[in-house]
Amino acid sequence: MAFKPANNIQDLQYFGEFGGVNPSISDSSTYTFLSAKTMFDTFEGNADGCYLYSRHSTPSNLYLGQALAAMEGTATANVTASGMGAITSVLMHLCGAGDHVVSSRTIYGGTYAFLKNFAPRFNIATSFVDITKLDLVEAAITPKTKVLYCESVSNPLLEVADLVGLSKLAKKHNLKLVVDNTFSPLSISPAQMGADIVIHSLTKFINGSSDTVGGVICGSQEFIDDLRNVNDGACMLLGATMDSLRAASILKNLRTLHIRMQQHSLNAMYLAENFENDGLKTVYPGLTSHPSHEVFTTMMNKKYGFGGMLTLDVGSLEKANALMELMQKRNLGYLAVSLGFYKTLFSAPGSSTSSEIPLNEQKEMGLSDGLIRFSIGLDADIERTYSVMKSCMKELKILK
Ligand SMILES: *Cc1c(COP(=O)(O)O)cnc(C)c1O
Repeated sequence: MAFKPANNIQDLQYFGEFGGVNPSISDSSTYTFLSAKTMFDTFEGNADGCYLYSRHSTPSNLYLGQALAAMEGTATANVTASGMGAITSVLMHLCGAGDHVVSSRTIYGGTYAFLKNFAPRFNIATSFVDITKLDLVEAAITPKTKVLYCESVSNPLLEVADLVGLSKLAKKHNLKLVVDNTFSPLSISPAQMGADIVIHSLTKFINGSSDTVGGVICGSQEFIDDLRNVNDGACMLLGATMDSLRAASILKNLRTLHIRMQQHSLNAMYLAENFENDGLKTVYPGLTSHPSHEVFTTMMNKKYGFGGMLTLDVGSLEKANALMELMQKRNLGYLAVSLGFYKTLFSAPGSSTSSEIPLNEQKEMGLSDGLIRFSIGLDADIERTYSVMKSCMKELKILK
């Protein structure tokens, strides 16, 4: 693919007010106008380059949005206070009472809970489907369907969506294809494959420091303008706005994303190959044994690899819990939810991040009790990490 997302980020230049190499942070909630007419025009959305009020937009938020739009190859983007702030704004904006969503059944627990429990209050219904089966996806589409929703690499089972196939379906049925790309920044560029809207939780790999929550919506100029519309825009009216100081700090972290993703992927691939060889049930899209390996390979920007997420099934929740506690004691990482940190993070999704999903549905989608989800860190010596992890597993009789 000719598209080089990381270079697009590096090509951007922003200077501070005094020639600083970083843009100045806009530390204001409101902005003065020299003429009353310009204020009116700004409300109407007709005064380009003018700022009104920081829930609408701020210079710092626009810088970060532009950088993320460059990364995803969309016209523009709007940053939000959290990933859920981005997801709920998009869904509430695209759907009204009576509308229908077709969603992957393996998605982030919060998104699942929103579609399953919250959106029905507004008479928005969702069909959850196996997103890897395009015929099932198409069969779920009704005349009321407005949105096709999925994650490029799904949480926690790492199923990979065939974005080219899904975007064809979306076009055929006049739906918006909304893709949460949180697990695979740089590796996969959904907009290049026909996604209409690309969302990230910036909380994870993109910020990479586990010091804030944040989100972004990447899309066309028209859609992003609509979201910010003072009269009926979901971002403007629901108010999940990012603070400027935080936008400035995330922009600085974004600059090293390409290097970090390469290291996360390298480390995860090393562990996945070795643990699979050791006979552990290992799920990683980089393994040829992964059911979506081929789909991922055809979509990926090769130099960023298959990402930092992998799962290991150690047989039971008791063993999973014992292993996670022991690994934490040996300083291999932290027993914590979230992902994209320099340290390895691990959790048992069935009892944590996916606990919103009822047990029988967890079983049906292959989410077993002994499953541990790993966000592999930036370890400089992954061979050592592997040997210490393996010794923990031997101690607990998970491996011989
Ligand atoms: C964490 C996460 C979210 C939610 O993001 P927040 O920043 O926590 O609101 C959404 N989607 C995926 C895939 C995530 O991992």
